[in-house]
Amino acid sequence: MTTTVMWFRRDLRLADSPALRAAVDGATAGVVPLFVLDPALWGPAGPNRRAYLAASLSDLGKRIGGWQLRCGDPVKEVVSVARAAEASTVHIAADFGPYGRERDKQVQRALAEHGIDLVRTGSPYAVAPGRVTKPDGSPYAVYTPFWRAWTDHGWRAPVAAPQSVDWIRPLTSVDLPAGEPAAGTALPPAGEQAARRRWRDFLDDGVNSYGEDRDRPDRDRTSRMSVHLKWGEIHPRTMLADLARRRGDSVRTYRQELAWREFYADVLWQRPDSARGYLRPQFAAMRYARAGSQLETWAAGRTGFPIVDAGMRQLRSEGWMHNRLRMIVASFLVKDLHVEWQHGAQHFLHWLVDGDLSSNNHGWQWVAGSGTDASPYFRVFNPVSQGKKFDPGGDYVRRHVEELAGVAGGAVHEPWTLPGGVPNGYPEPMVDHKAERVEALARYDEVKGS
Ligand SMILES: Cc1cc2nc3c(=O)[nH]c(=O)nc-3n(C[C@H](O)[C@H](O)[C@H](O)COP(=O)(O)OP(=O)(O)OC[C@H]3O[C@@H](n4cnc5c(N)ncnc54)[C@H](O)[C@@H]3O)c2cc1C
Repeated sequence: MTTTVMWFRRDLRLADSPALRAAVDGATAGVVPLFVLDPALWGPAGPNRRAYLAASLSDLGKRIGGWQLRCGDPVKEVVSVARAAEASTVHIAADFGPYGRERDKQVQRALAEHGIDLVRTGSPYAVAPGRVTKPDGSPYAVYTPFWRAWTDHGWRAPVAAPQSVDWIRPLTSVDLPAGEPAAGTALPPAGEQAARRRWRDFLDDGVNSYGEDRDRPDRDRTSRMSVHLKWGEIHPRTMLADLARRRGDSVRTYRQELAWREFYADVLWQRPDSARGYLRPQFAAMRYARAGSQLETWAAGRTGFPIVDAGMRQLRSEGWMHNRLRMIVASFLVKDLHVEWQHGAQHFLHWLVDGDLSSNNHGWQWVAGSGTDASPYFRVFNPVSQGKKFDPGGDYVRRHVEELAGVAGGAVHEPWTLPGGVPNGYPEPMVDHKAERVEALARYDEVKGS
């Protein structure tokens, strides 16, 4: 009679989970549904991600009749649960982040001392980081060739959820954490079924116009699947299999977006130092401003640039921000305020429900110009023209910036030009964008080519 442990991490689902299938197939006496609340991850997660995780754990816990939930150092907790269950194997989906990789190596060593195997099956990606390489075996540093090679590589078909599982819990569990989001933040419904519903809705009414709508925050028509992908409530292969049954440019564009997530995971896997450090080292030598009150003004959505403030306020009210806004506000912090990207990335990771180290920190480096190819440093977003182009009627700004709710049309992007001046309570622009652009380019010239 064999018992196995399924150590859930970023795979809070039953369907299309190869690791879970391996755990179930390897067990004749039962499977332990283990989740470890690791203070090293729980601590920095921020209230929104903690609350969402608690809700997702609660949802899956109800479906499997309760967790084996432990709190503490995974090395100690996984070993003690596996030993108590007299398990021969602990099953996981591989983690490719810098912390997770190291943690898993340590857990593997500790388990091996007791003759227990750590078995990695699958990953949170359609294609595991490191698999897609150039013909000479070196990694891609540029997205478009990665995307082509990733498409050519292909991925396995989804696997079904196991039919029935004999879940066992050899030790006492800690209580599920009470997770409350930040005051005033409304989080989306959590769990595998919520993810499936959201995905079906998007397939029915969204994916066909995605190419046209995705850059329009006023329309709010992106899939909002990022949070479900973050926690593995759905696997990207499941989504790709559904997309494969559809045709059209929008479907292709959506697949390309999923590939960005895979690309950044690959880049981070190849260069774990780029989680906090510059992918292109010469940028470390650039002159930056000390992060102080300007960072706070930006974070509070009080810059006086309506599109920037709307984005920062959406982050606080929803724990999520539209992709176009993530780019605009990141550019503003780095190039108008000259603050290093790491400060903004940290702020995002504190508040985002979908906060993900590779997508976030490489998204920031991309905007900062220090990351993968596509966005050169000298491309500085103009917050007014970005607002006019992507929120032409001003609806997005009015939705999030209440002081400007009474300003009609696209004029909301330049409140300082209104006949009565800037509406009461809304700040004047904190900087002169034109001047800061020149300053940013001068700073860039100093390190360019170094
Ligand atoms: C500065 C910055 C920080 C970001 N931080 C994160 C983060 O912490 N977590 C996160 O999941 N995404 C992050 N992104 C990427 C992107 O903004 C979000 O994935 C997207 O806005 C999520 O909304 P959606 O699910 O409706 O996206 P959709 O437009 O519906 O896209 C579908 C899916 O494709 C993937 N995707 C789309 N765009 C990107 C991208 N540029 N990079 C990587 N994956 C992408 C996501 O998994 C997304 O759910 C960041 C982008 C930038 C510029």
